[in-house]
Amino acid sequence: MRYEMDVLEQSHVCHCRMCQKATGGLFAALVGAKKDQIRWTAAPPEEFWSSNLAKRAFCSACGTPLGFTCDLPDARQYVTIGSLDHPEDAPISHQYGLESKIPFVEFCESIPGERTGARPRQCPTSSRT
Ligand SMILES: [Zn+2]
Repeated sequence: MRYEMDVLEQSHVCHCRMCQKATGGLFAALVGAKKDQIRWTAAPPEEFWSSNLAKRAFCSACGTPLGFTCDLPDARQYVTIGSLDHPEDAPISHQYGLESKIPFVEFCESIPGERTGARPRQCPTSSRT
């Protein structure tokens, strides 16, 4: 799966439960662009709705989480920073989902953050609550 982005904006980590479950990690690291500033250069990614807000993209060939968007008119497409060819080009500037931050995750303490409050949709095969 390949994509091109014209800009890298709103680089952040999200600690919310949806991002934890969608990435299988302790948080998601994401960077965005307007939808017309990102192009999937081969087939578009597979997608699923992880909540009433977020539609997640992933590579159907290798399973890599590729990011998320929603269907609101001005919504950005966010991609996982780890899927960039040069993740170092997207330094984290904000964090979200602090209500779900895992206590032993000591990372980005100096970066401003906020709670989000969105609720994840349950996956019948992978969720353990
Ligand atoms: Zn999140």
